[in-house]
Amino acid sequence: MTPELSNCSAGVFIADDQVIYGFMPNVNSRLAPHINSMTIDRIPCSPNVIDDIRQVIYLLNRLVEIKNNERDEQDTLHITSITIAIPGPIAVSGVRHKDVGYDYGEANGFNRRISLRNQNIYEVASSEIRKNLYASFSEEAKVQIYHDAAAYAFGEYTIREIEYVKARCIGRDEDAYSHVKRQYYNNTVHAQILLDEGIGGAIVAFGGIAQQNMHSEMGHIIVPRHHSDYKFSSQCSMHNADDCLESFIGIPALKRRFGDDFLNNYSAWDHKEPRLWLIAHYISYLIVNLVLVVAPTRIVLSGRIATLNKQLVRMVRGCVVDVLSSKQGDGARFPGYGSQNEVSKYIVQPQEIDAGVYGCALLAMPVSSAGTVAYLSGRR
Ligand SMILES: [Zn+2]
Repeated sequence: MTPELSNCSAGVFIADDQVIYGFMPNVNSRLAPHINSMTIDRIPCSPNVIDDIRQVIYLLNRLVEIKNNERDEQDTLHITSITIAIPGPIAVSGVRHKDVGYDYGEANGFNRRISLRNQNIYEVASSEIRKNLYASFSEEAKVQIYHDAAAYAFGEYTIREIEYVKARCIGRDEDAYSHVKRQYYNNTVHAQILLDEGIGGAIVAFGGIAQQNMHSEMGHIIVPRHHSDYKFSSQCSMHNADDCLESFIGIPALKRRFGDDFLNNYSAWDHKEPRLWLIAHYISYLIVNLVLVVAPTRIVLSGRIATLNKQLVRMVRGCVVDVLSSKQGDGARFPGYGSQNEVSKYIVQPQEIDAGVYGCALLAMPVSSAGTVAYLSGRR
């Protein structure tokens, strides 16, 4: 007898130093959907991202096979959809980019790893699955490509949403569940900033990622120089010396400023360290701009720059308060955003370090009948 097949969604998150991959079954469980059943593994990045993607598809196939052998169930898990998240710039919309000469899924130029230039990640992944007919993949497995910051933001958003809804719905009925979920959906604008080799970010508003023609590139906003920093020659791989945030405090810029071993020493810096205040100053201007443009419910600071040093987030909050509260004459501060108490509620650290790969698998998941997880389906 042919075993029953259970659909799974897979995710591949290409980080700066490693590739994280995993899958979760498409189970409709009301309060804790999917998240707890995610299986994750990782490999270090090679110099060639295309090799990494092929390798990870092979490894995903094996991961599902191992899981199937371990399980005692009658059904067999198989992957019906996969989302790959990759550092930008990458074409995430199929229409507009054809007009300017590049297609959906195509990573295009300017990246830290030369192998990303003009590579169509969508075509590579699709043909790898089709060509090899891996047993754990459905023949019609759907491939989607997202910007890394978008997947990261969606993962963190969904994990927080599940926690919020779960905490308020235990022992309550279906109506209460729908009400609480709708409340979260309507009241949450989640901004995520990824501070690592590059600087990026994304916004999840009303359950979906706020992007359309392209993805946001908030790491490249122009920020005012710190008063002690006029001599630094800023260099951005995307648009040269334009004094953007990444050109000041992306990891390559920090290595140029503070030495190649910067990351080894960074976690020990404390609030007396002017170099840490310099980093906090620059991050705070992105936050101030986000607050003034979209007024998010929360802003999550993730990536190694934000998480390796335990004092940085608190110092960033101090800088944000300074900017939003600074009075000129009788002018008042921005109400609701400017006090220390307020910023400590909305500027926070991530809850899930692997939110990126969770986000990928969740984005690969079809919208369930109960609208349980993914509000935003792929465009392709
Ligand atoms: Zn830039």
